Amino acid sequence: MIHEILPVGPLQCNCSIFGDEQSHEALVVDPGDEIGEIQAILDRHELQLKGIIITHAHIDHIGGAAKLKKLSGAPVYMNENDMELTAQLDVQAGWIGVEPPEKPDIDVMVRDGDIVALAKQPFHVLHTPGHTQGSISLHIPSENKLIAGDTLFRDGIGRTDLPGGDSRQIIVSIKERLLALDDGVIVIPGHGPETTIGREREMNYFLRGL
Ligand SMILES: [Zn+2]
Repeated sequence: MIHEILPVGPLQCNCSIFGDEQSHEALVVDPGDEIGEIQAILDRHELQLKGIIITHAHIDHIGGAAKLKKLSGAPVYMNENDMELTAQLDVQAGWIGVEPPEKPDIDVMVRDGDIVALAKQPFHVLHTPGHTQGSISLHIPSENKLIAGDTLFRDGIGRTDLPGGDSRQIIVSIKERLLALDDGVIVIPGHGPETTIGREREMNYFLRGL
């Protein structure tokens, strides 16, 4: 599977572009900004976008979704508990001082246990609320990878002081859903460098005693 990670926008959100070499189908996770760059990567690998997955509706993750949907016609997947945040994209734009982007229509409301497939490889949806109420993570067994959104970072966890955040809930999500995965699973956080479940289990200060 092709997997390119492109940090986009002023907050450098890690946008993931996944592609299947045989079918040339692609999934994009968190197209926050720089849609031209994302499209260039799709074109370079001759990929056809089949779906846009949003880990949560913060502007740096969802800001370019409407534009990418318009370009590709691909459906947008998100958890319904972030619909309120999606409606407030203009307010969020004010937080970071950027022009409000167009609000994307959400085509598929994904829930815990759902599977989004690329070619025949499943991306398992884990509902991991706490950073926002609709935060999801994606476990991709064929790649041994976890797309963690802003729930888990290398040496950190997502902030919970924004609307919809809950500091106890994010710990429960991490403990029960993410730390349940094998130590060798590679974690691609929403920002910053990748890590592994095992490294965070051992080293992450915020997870001590879990
Ligand atoms: Zn966020």
